Amino acid sequence: MHSIAYELARCPVCNSADSHEIAGTDDVREEVEALWGFHTRRLRDETPPDRLTDRVAFSQPPALRIVQCARCETVFRNPRERAFEVTEAYADETPSLETLQALHETQQATYSAQVARLTDVAGHPGRGLEVGSYAGGFLGAAREAGWQFEGLDVNEAANEFARALGFPVTSGDLVSFRTRTPFDAVAIWNCFDQLPDPRAAARAVHGLLRPLGLLAIRVPNGAFYSAVRRRLDGIAGPIARAVLAHNNLLGFPYRHGFTVHSITLLLEDTGFDVIRTHGDALVPIADEWTRGWAAAEERMIKAAMKTLGALDSDGAPWFEVYARRDQ
Ligand SMILES: [Zn+2]
Repeated sequence: MHSIAYELARCPVCNSADSHEIAGTDDVREEVEALWGFHTRRLRDETPPDRLTDRVAFSQPPALRIVQCARCETVFRNPRERAFEVTEAYADETPSLETLQALHETQQATYSAQVARLTDVAGHPGRGLEVGSYAGGFLGAAREAGWQFEGLDVNEAANEFARALGFPVTSGDLVSFRTRTPFDAVAIWNCFDQLPDPRAAARAVHGLLRPLGLLAIRVPNGAFYSAVRRRLDGIAGPIARAVLAHNNLLGFPYRHGFTVHSITLLLEDTGFDVIRTHGDALVPIADEWTRGWAAAEERMIKAAMKTLGALDSDGAPWFEVYARRDQ
């Protein structure tokens, strides 16, 4: 065990020190315990232990306290882990080959929908960089759609896996990455919410894109988490808990929870124009180890959320933002 250093945080978007608590230490612990129970019930008895821990052990340690900015409604940890703790925890993970293979396959289908939206906004395929390329699911879907995407990730085990599939991947982080030829698009589907300094990240992307190039980001919705977790103790508690669990929001294993409004503020401040947003549920989490009833329940809940219009606007559990770099 190594100890974690904490520091007091201001809002990562508007720098306000004015925030209110939405979950304390005990609340977060209860959510993590509920999440453990949720996954244990859903997996078949013969599931290898590491496939359970994949679902419950996150790159982030549990939050001490989760707050919401009084000014722009961004959700964040306060106190928060110091920046180097975050990157090191993630870079040190060594996922098994089976885990990477399973992720690559489950995510490919979802990613083809994201590639289609990206192509639609861009007008045509081009050259791109995916930050947080991990198991290469998006790189594969992008290649099939005619894009030339390369990857960037701090996790060496994942990078070796993606390179073995034929994708160019650089080991390292966004802020120190350099390119000779600016990209037509930069996509951050998996990790914008985990980055220690999102404002520095947006500026770094600005420097990697050609004028009018596209930035595509997918993040968990802080406003959705905040609104649904308020129901956890009430009569709708079990439903609220299931909705959060199915969208991987229980215990809030992220560093930042942006809202459509707050990420727009951040991007406009750093030289971008938001041109489209898209609300969505989490990618499917069921796989070959999931019990039949549990996979059916997941499909039902996600379909119901779609039908109820919960995914059409600022109210979705996850959302994508497409933004154009200035001239
Ligand atoms: Zn704020």
